[in-house]
Amino acid sequence: MSSGETPRRLLCATSNPGKAREFALAAGGRVTLEPLPGFRDIPPCVEDGATFAANAMIKARHYGAHTSGLLFADDSGLEVDALGGAPGVYSARFSGPAATDESNNRLLLEKLHGVADRRARFVCAIAVVDNGELSGVYMGSVEGLILEAPRGSGGFGYDPLFYYPPFACTFGEVEGGRKFTVSHRGQALRAMIEALAGKHAAG
Ligand code: IMP
Repeated sequence: MSSGETPRRLLCATSNPGKAREFALAAGGRVTLEPLPGFRDIPPCVEDGATFAANAMIKARHYGAHTSGLLFADDSGLEVDALGGAPGVYSARFSGPAATDESNNRLLLEKLHGVADRRARFVCAIAVVDNGELSGVYMGSVEGLILEAPRGSGGFGYDPLFYYPPFACTFGEVEGGRKFTVSHRGQALRAMIEALAGKHAAG
């Protein structure tokens, strides 16, 4: 797809407003992203993959069975080196079934209390299905450090604890959606758009 062509329409299988906002920013009008109609009425799938990519594929296949055309789903999370990569694929439910962003952040700070190694990364996998068939998986990751207290109220999830050295602030403090320019989600989405553009040009 060249920049002059009509953006293609892609359905996005997420109920997370933070993710949806970042996807739309990262797409920048190159493709039109729309929520999957009736998403909330579709019973959720069991995300029991061992990796972000496996879970993204599970979600894309599950929700893709309810529609035709292009649909993508993502799985993302935080990997903390000092915790052996946890919370990883359990990021959303780190502090239990009733987890909230606040309870997850609190638990993360407890587990890292007194720990000097604060290195961590956000990882995102996006899986695309075309008429229900898997068409590709795209990855992104961004390195940062976990602070000892939250800073900023922007973003979602672990953003207020995730210090990004090149910006000299946390993802919770980043202004005006600048996060998507460097984030794991922005990288994966742009890789997906490039790949779809290549397929479109070839086909
Ligand atoms: P998912 O919906 O299973 O992909 O859960 C992802 C979880 O990882 C979120 O609920 C957040 O806790 C965390 N997470 C993923 N991406 C981000 C991000 O960009 N900022 C902050 N937290 C994130």
